[in-house]
Order: sequence, then structure tokens, then C-alpha cells
Amino acid sequence: MNVNIESFQKPNHLNEKFVIKWSNTYKRLEILEKSGIKTYSIRQKAIQFLKNKCIEYSKEKKCYICKPIKGYNKTYYEMRPKIIHYNGEKIKTFDCTCQFYNKVVKNSHPYLVCSHVLALKLQLKIWNWENVRNRET
Ligand SMILES: [Zn+2]
Repeated sequence: MNVNIESFQKPNHLNEKFVIKWSNTYKRLEILEKSGIKTYSIRQKAIQFLKNKCIEYSKEKKCYICKPIKGYNKTYYEMRPKIIHYNGEKIKTFDCTCQFYNKVVKNSHPYLVCSHVLALKLQLKIWNWENVRNRET
């Protein structure tokens, strides 16, 4: 009998604490931190975006957006899918309209993402996870 043991160990619901354990994008940022590229504040900010439900799909703009956290700033960032080829690996990621993406991320290590893209990738994982769970039950 072919029983997938791993599926029994997965939590029913992914929150900001659980999702980072299942995210390759997040793990890659931790690896970068060890090699001297600072990613701690990117990761912290992304969790704040998740907690404040900042990620949405905009039908009007036909892309994902990251809304501002109340009290911080008033800028909306737009993110569109993008594929990076690195070491024979095809990485599905997004570009972003923020300054950090355009000044730093684009010219840095392929594993580096801005806090908005990290938040989006974590949010997609949470949404997708819940869809999968709903189909199973
Ligand atoms: Zn960004």
C-alpha cells in the first residue's frame, strides 16, 4: 500500500510561522545570509506584509500587488512573473516595481528577492496549501 506519510505530518493550516519552513525562497535567503548578503530585514518585512494581509491579485492591473502597511508608507508595488535560469535550475519568481528590486536585486545573486516578492511567494504557498487541503477533504 502506497501511503504518503509526509502528508500526515503537514499542518492543516499554514500561518506565517509554518510557511517559512516549507518555502524554498525563504531558505535560499537564509543561505545568502550565511554567505554575507544581508537578508534578515527582508525576511522580517515580508512576515509583516503577510500578517497585515498586504498581498492581493489586482484584476485591474492583471498582476499581484503588495499594499502598504498602515502607518508606514502609501506606495503600492506591482509584481509580475519572471523566470531565472541559474546553475541548471529554473527559478520561478517575480519582478517588482520597488526601488530595492530595481537597484539591488536585479544586479545581485539570483536567490535574492525583495520583501514584496518574498511575501507574495509565501502568500501563494498559503493559498495553494489551503486549496490542496480543501480538495483532499
Ligand atoms: Zn519589491
